[in-house]
Amino acid sequence: MHETAIVSGLMRILEQKAARNGVAHISSVLLKVGRLQAVEPQQLVACFEMFAEGTVADGAELVIYVVGVRGRCRACATEFDVPRFHFECPACAGSDIEVIQGQELYIESFEASSVSSVNNVKARADV
Ligand SMILES: [Zn+2]
Repeated sequence: MHETAIVSGLMRILEQKAARNGVAHISSVLLKVGRLQAVEPQQLVACFEMFAEGTVADGAELVIYVVGVRGRCRACATEFDVPRFHFECPACAGSDIEVIQGQELYIESFEASSVSSVNNVKARADV
């Protein structure tokens, strides 16, 4: 399933970021997803909850921001919102359209609910 692959990639990135920033727990994640990714936000959230169990993002809220599709006509350079995958220039009716927005898939930001200080990390390492 498409969503499974996306979420497993996201989890890897989140765990790396958390480790690098000394984050002990992530409380929410803001994800930007272009409409062209053709993902079902609800499925993505359900999948995320499953993958996050037992990780730094256990119980975190996944907030999905869907980015609309924009194109640029290669013939006349007009930029426009692309409605329902209808790739036609509104100015010259050309169909050679370059996608300039809508293929995004990245973590915009995440919130940490607790950041372990260097001392805490040391204390834990001693145990
Ligand atoms: Zn055009």
